[in-house]
Parts: sequence; structure tokens; C-alpha cells
Amino acid sequence: MLINVTRSSMPTYEEFCEEIKELWDSHWLTNMGAKHKQLEAALKEYLHTPNVTLYTNGHLALENVLASMNLPKGGEVITTPFTFASTTHAIVRNSLVPVFCDVNDVDYTMDVTKIEALITDKTCAIVPVHVYGNMCDVDEIQRIADKHALKVIYDAAHAFGVTYRGVSSANFGDASMFSFHATKVFNTIEGGAVCYPDETLVQVLNDMKNFGIRGPEACAYVGGNAKMNEFQAAMGLCNLRHLDEELAKRKTVVEHYRKRLSGVKGIKLCTDQKDVKSNYAYFPVVFDGYRYTRDEIYGILREQNIIARKYFYPLTNSFECYQNLETAGAEKTPVAQYLADRVLTLPLYADLSAEDIDRICDIILN
Ligand SMILES: *Cc1c(COP(=O)(O)O)cnc(C)c1O
Repeated sequence: MLINVTRSSMPTYEEFCEEIKELWDSHWLTNMGAKHKQLEAALKEYLHTPNVTLYTNGHLALENVLASMNLPKGGEVITTPFTFASTTHAIVRNSLVPVFCDVNDVDYTMDVTKIEALITDKTCAIVPVHVYGNMCDVDEIQRIADKHALKVIYDAAHAFGVTYRGVSSANFGDASMFSFHATKVFNTIEGGAVCYPDETLVQVLNDMKNFGIRGPEACAYVGGNAKMNEFQAAMGLCNLRHLDEELAKRKTVVEHYRKRLSGVKGIKLCTDQKDVKSNYAYFPVVFDGYRYTRDEIYGILREQNIIARKYFYPLTNSFECYQNLETAGAEKTPVAQYLADRVLTLPLYADLSAEDIDRICDIILN
């Protein structure tokens, strides 16, 4: 039987049907309908955050929130290459220049000791990435941003439901983007959101995602289209009801993995961060000096129908599409390069059975 790297969370068929029933009465399928409004309100409450704007996916959420910050064309944005293509693309598609900061080798987020050396008079923002359910050093990033008057926009795609000292990951920096893609801890099939403290962004972001249309005869802004539809929102409302239960199950899976794989020579695992409650979104394992390389383990698992993921690999600063970008080049971020060559994320989802975890670990260890 195939064990995939992830398995999308879904409500029961009956629960989803019940949720979408009203749509057959209203015939209102998209454009900020009842489900959209309900989900926005539910997320504000769940994340204890003042403003939530929903999107059809996380990438457009990030593109739009970057656009909403009025950053100067050609401005430099400090970010990391140890991320999904989306983060760097969103910066470049906004006519901004990504400047790649290395990551640290403890939690794999931005190495805050290396940020200030990258700041120039063109730097306008920092786009750090929370990874695997680990949080960035939000305190130090904010201190640097305040000192140099920089915006901070978090790619929080991996950090839905994570808290730091009891405060939700939605509440740091000028904004945070979440992805609700099918593979994420919380999904709306495809989907995403931006959370932010600045009330004035509500109108701006709503304009951006709906052509700038404010009324039947009023188009106030040159917007695009990135609206979340009612079926997506309905899926979100269902999945949100079960999220805490799912997070608890994920924690159990991770603890089981840790019990089996910790203390093994050549295998490095992430540990819980101080003051952070993780969502256990991914289970990264770094193979360094182990009997087999990462790529060999990947292949051995694959032969047994177990799909792990080289994640993140390759680094975005080594993408072919950025080969002419002056700031690109993986050699400039050696820790990220080290990780990208050695990390594997193992299958992880709420209903992954103890037997399956043991089977995966037995294969790796034997
Ligand atoms: C998933 C993901 C995104 C993009 O989100 P989509 O909803 O798929 O558009 C961006 N950044 C990171 C780190 C992600 O994992």
C-alpha cells in the first residue's frame, strides 16, 4: 500500500454535504457570500487576530499583500531561499529584488545574525518564512525592522495554528500569509489568507482580490481576481471544526517518529522550540554522516511505496529562472545549501498509523 508524504484532511462526506446544502438554495457560489463571511469570522476568532482577508490560494495572498505595502519598484527584500517557489516568485512578480539571507541550522528559519549585513539603502522589507511548524525569531526580526524602518511580511504557510508565548503566528510583523492548500495542516482545497493589524488594509486587499470593484457602477482600483469561492470556504468551515483534534494526532505521530529516530548517529531531528506550540506540519530529517545519503534513503523508501519529499530542494536561489539574478546563487547561503542536500520530510498526517510509522522507521534504520 502506498504511503504518501501527506494526505489531505477532509470532513465526512455527510458533513460537507450538510455545509454546502444552502448553496443550492441561494445559488450564490462565490463573491464573498455567506460561507466566505463565516470563515473569515471563524478564522479571526481561531487565530485571535483583528483582520483576515481570504484568498483563492496562498500565493496570490502573498503577492497581494506585498503589493499593498507600497514598496518602491526595484526595492530589495531580504528573504530566504529555503522555501517553496512561491515566496521568491511573489517578491519578483512585484518588481522587487530578493536578497537571500541564510538560515540557521537549528530550526531552519532565517539566521537573524546575518540580516543586518544585507541591509542597504534600497532595502524596504523582510519576508521571513516559518518552516515546518517552526517559528522565526520574531522578536529579533521586529527589532531589526524597527531600527531600519522595514516592513515585515511573514510567509506563514507552514505555521497555521502555531503560537509563540501563547500568541498566534498570525500576529507578528506587518502581515502574515497562510496557505490553505490541500497539503497544508488546514485546508480549503486551495486557499489562503492574509492576517494583519492595519485596519486600512482591509479595503486595499479586498480591492486587489476583486478587480477593485466597490459597487455595481464603481471601480476604484486596478485589481485582479483572487477571491475564495463558497465551496472552498465551506470546506474550511468543516475542517476548522476538527483542527485541534488533527493537531493533537499530528503531535502523536511526531512523538512516535522521534522515539524511533532520535539518538541515531547521522540522523538529525528538529526539537521543540522554546515557548512555541508547533502545529507539527512536517517531519524533517537531516541525514549527515548516516550509512545512507538522503537521496539513497529517498530511493529505498520509494521502492517500498513510501513517498518522502526532498523539501526544500532545490533552493529558490538556484532555480533556473533566477540564473540571471545577481543576488542568486546557492553558494551565498551555505547552511541552506547544506540542508537542501540532506533533508527529507517523512510522511506525516493525522491518521498515519503507528504500524506505518514503525514500518517507515524500520526501513530507514535497517
Ligand atoms: C504552500 C506554500 C506556499 C503557497 O501557497 P499556495 O496556497 O499553494 O499558493 C507559499 N509558501 C510556502 C512556504 C508554502 O509551503
